[in-house]
Amino acid sequence: MSLRRLLICTACLASLLAFSADLDRADASAPDRSGRCLSAVHDRQLRVRIYPARGWHVRCVSSIHVSGLSNVIGLTLSRSHLILVDAHRGDPLTTLAHELAHAFSLDRMSPGLRSRFTRRMGSRSFSTGTSWATTPAEIWAFNQARCAGYTTAARTRAVSCRVIRTFVRATS
Ligand SMILES: [Zn+2]
Repeated sequence: MSLRRLLICTACLASLLAFSADLDRADASAPDRSGRCLSAVHDRQLRVRIYPARGWHVRCVSSIHVSGLSNVIGLTLSRSHLILVDAHRGDPLTTLAHELAHAFSLDRMSPGLRSRFTRRMGSRSFSTGTSWATTPAEIWAFNQARCAGYTTAARTRAVSCRVIRTFVRATS
């Protein structure tokens, strides 16, 4: 599956078997205007610390449905440059931080840099893996967000922030 077709979930707490799906297998409810999620969307500090993600749209929704997955509270839809954030479950701010880190890795990291990170994690593919928590794309997103001060409830292994910063600097 190409990276462009990936759809990455933030917190598949109950499902560790699959983390990606085709765009047409995902669906979201109507936009949700509740305050906590909208304030996360407009949080400038968050964009500065993680990634401005210009050209991406962020939608707060009241639920996210992905075929075959449960407990999805955030999604990065790479092909449509759309991020979905569940306004009611989890902390929308940390969810969005995680998804912005996915957007960063898609936009700013070259294939070579993603490969370097993948090898460093002892994996073969950046965006696929045997479980959510061991997939390099998820390890990247969890740790880039964590090192910026936003730790999600769904955790992967920790990578030192010094290493994360080295990779972030390599994109500029
Ligand atoms: Zn994720």
